[in-house]
Amino acid sequence: MKKPNIIQTVVSVAACKFTRLILRKTGRGGTAVPGIVAMKLAGNILAAVSEGMQIVVVTGTNGKTTTCNMIEHAITSAGHKCLRDKSGANMLHGIAADLICNATWLGRSRYPYAVIECDEAALKLLVRYLEPKVIVVTNLFSDQVDRYGGVLNTLQEIRTGVEHSPASTLVLNTDESQSASLAHNVPNKVIWYGMEKTVGLQGNVDMTDAGTCPVCGSAYEYEYHIYAHLGGYHCPKCGHVRQTPDVAVTAIDAVTASGSRIHVRAEGVVHEARVALPAVYNVYNAAAAIAAGMAVGIGARAAIDSLATVKSSFGRLETFDLDGIRLQMILVKNPAGCNQAFSYVTGLDEDFTAVLALNNRTGDGLDFSWIEDADYEKLLADPHLKKLFVCGDRAAELMERLERAGASAPLAEIVKEYPVLLEKLKQENRPVYAMPNYTAMMDMRQVLVPATGNKEFWE
Ligand SMILES: [Zn+2]
Repeated sequence: MKKPNIIQTVVSVAACKFTRLILRKTGRGGTAVPGIVAMKLAGNILAAVSEGMQIVVVTGTNGKTTTCNMIEHAITSAGHKCLRDKSGANMLHGIAADLICNATWLGRSRYPYAVIECDEAALKLLVRYLEPKVIVVTNLFSDQVDRYGGVLNTLQEIRTGVEHSPASTLVLNTDESQSASLAHNVPNKVIWYGMEKTVGLQGNVDMTDAGTCPVCGSAYEYEYHIYAHLGGYHCPKCGHVRQTPDVAVTAIDAVTASGSRIHVRAEGVVHEARVALPAVYNVYNAAAAIAAGMAVGIGARAAIDSLATVKSSFGRLETFDLDGIRLQMILVKNPAGCNQAFSYVTGLDEDFTAVLALNNRTGDGLDFSWIEDADYEKLLADPHLKKLFVCGDRAAELMERLERAGASAPLAEIVKEYPVLLEKLKQENRPVYAMPNYTAMMDMRQVLVPATGNKEFWE
């Protein structure tokens, strides 16, 4: 896209910076407004401020934020400056605001690299204004159905974005048939990542979101499963098949509360690696980050080494110290994410307290019927679960669901106030896994952060 002239650029950048400053001074986190103002003044301002940057855009249902963190950490660990928005904005104007506010007053980028988290529906808008070097798609699962109208719509939204960005390298999960189908009929270079059969996982198989063959429309057959609909699939009719991954996790040696040890093959070498964020789904995110590291030219080795020191971001396996009790917070917002969180906490072999918190405000999606599809039975079947607190605006409905899964007093208990919850967690005095959805996480953090000293997310 043609760049704005220098006067438009200076005015647009200044307006963006001042608007953001005022919003922050008045205590509002408002992330979109500065971008809207700037783009009103110069519609193509993003072309100016992104010029010369290597931009990695990460989209997909689950794992976007953590994958962004890992990629940013890989790039900065390799000695490069990398722009990364910490506000959580992932729609066009929020992303724009961040790029513009971090440019010089003359609209030049200060960073050679940027990592951008992008909502699935926003990708097609974003690529009108800037050209990503890399587009990472983590996976596609049912999420906020009332907003997108299902996985197929989401897939089409992303495909439209990809089709407008033929020069971008795609980093795709070869085990996840839906997002893998994005490689079909586009000229983009693709770097595939995935887990090999040798990993030997048998997580909850759930074929709700399994796509059909993009060539002939037939249902896939599976040689093996990893979890949900991820695994080794092929089309029995036309032969369309899971691609051999360029970044292949060949073994998961251990998963503990502090991270995983894995073997991963990349650039022809099998590396031993430590991923400092626990849970199997973060092994996928790690593999995506390694592939993105290769795509931006820092190489697999440097990206792999950086994973040992990566930190969590707010709510994504974020760890709090609550008067000596370890509390890990895991954002869950759909059945697939929920089931992965349950797999993680029930796989740890230690007694624990669980907190489930459910809201259905605008940021969550009003429809919370997805709780019907989450495998609460798995959580409740774990003998290490010693106490379960149920919180949030929809605690009563969630408790009904849990009762159908076999929960009852005194194990399960509704707690309405988060300060009360913290006191009860201290009395229980064992590791806590808190699994809120989005706005419930924000509510919970507001009480937890001052109680534990963890930082506010925009710091
Ligand atoms: Zn087929």
